[in-house]
Amino acid sequence: MSKDYYETLGVNKNASDEEIKRAFRKLAKQYHPDLNKEPGAAEKFKEIGEAYAVLSDPNKRKTYDQFGSAAFENGGQGAGGASGFGGFDFSDFDLDSILRDVFGSGFAGFGSRRGSSSRSKRGSDVRIVLRLTFEEAAFGCEKKVDITMDDACPRCDGKGGFNEKTCSTCGGRGIVLERVQSLFGMMQTQKTCPDCHGTGKTFGETCPDCNGSGIVSRKKTMTIKIPEGVDNGFQLRLANRGEAGRNGGEAGDLLVDFDIMDHPLYERQGNDIYMEYPINVAQAALGCEIDVPTLTGIERVEIKAGTQNYEKIKLRGKGIKSPNSLMRGNMYVVVNIITPTKLSRKQKALFEELLDSDLDDEQAFKEFKKACKKI
Ligand SMILES: [Zn+2]
Ligand SMILES: [Zn+2]
Repeated sequence: MSKDYYETLGVNKNASDEEIKRAFRKLAKQYHPDLNKEPGAAEKFKEIGEAYAVLSDPNKRKTYDQFGSAAFENGGQGAGGASGFGGFDFSDFDLDSILRDVFGSGFAGFGSRRGSSSRSKRGSDVRIVLRLTFEEAAFGCEKKVDITMDDACPRCDGKGGFNEKTCSTCGGRGIVLERVQSLFGMMQTQKTCPDCHGTGKTFGETCPDCNGSGIVSRKKTMTIKIPEGVDNGFQLRLANRGEAGRNGGEAGDLLVDFDIMDHPLYERQGNDIYMEYPINVAQAALGCEIDVPTLTGIERVEIKAGTQNYEKIKLRGKGIKSPNSLMRGNMYVVVNIITPTKLSRKQKALFEELLDSDLDDEQAFKEFKKACKKI
């Protein structure tokens, strides 16, 4: 849906920068939600801001004249991926700063947005990669890791000071009312108390380790419990174990990615594990029993007479437990028939005897010969 920004501001397409600014000032005063309580005023106010944000910028105005408002939607991808020319995303659109530009610093914006620097802020997520052995990943484990991150100051317990008392500036409410002289007349806005940052408490003594912020960057030793079955590509999210939040904000999360080492015997595919098991030609022809090392111990497995190379034997439920579905995968024993290379005189004689017998009376040989004849 294309928007007509000129129409929104009530100016014609050839309007000068000065005319655009004048139109915006007039409409912004008319629809400012602190002054205009009619339904839809806030919406209209935002539309006006959007139109002005585009038309007051010579580059954006040029792009808009050429492509219309689509060029500014979805981060500027609208005009056939035309992100190259200054398209912007309206989620970043800062009406307050536009208003301050136009009306000067005396402007009172939306009360709730003032003083945001002292409001509580969630801590950052921290991402680490843990290298695990095959078994550690398969069975789960506990790992101790040292991570340097912003953490609650241990000296003041993250409070920022000592001898806590009720903030005298805001009376413990965490907010103060501010009267601001603006172009719209005297306006009263609420803002976060600058002395207690909204907590309602101040301290008799500021903590010297964190200078009152409650936060210090430090090396933290953490024990991470890793569930059974994690794999490359699986991410563990540990809530609130990332960096400490500010001014009472909650901590970020700790994100753990994995780098799993190869195993000499097992190969993992999803939650299944594969193992190649070497047997000799006599075992393959006559059948035998083999001892297979599974994740849970030795398992005796029967190899049937006439087993072919790379035949797979399924050991149900002997794979790895999925950390998501908790279902256990299977294990596959892949038979690898080894042709002997160091024959004793006696073995050689036995093979020669076999050669004279009719070992080629097999379906595979017959089919092959038949196919060859057709060429
Ligand atoms: Zn206060
Ligand atoms: Zn401290």
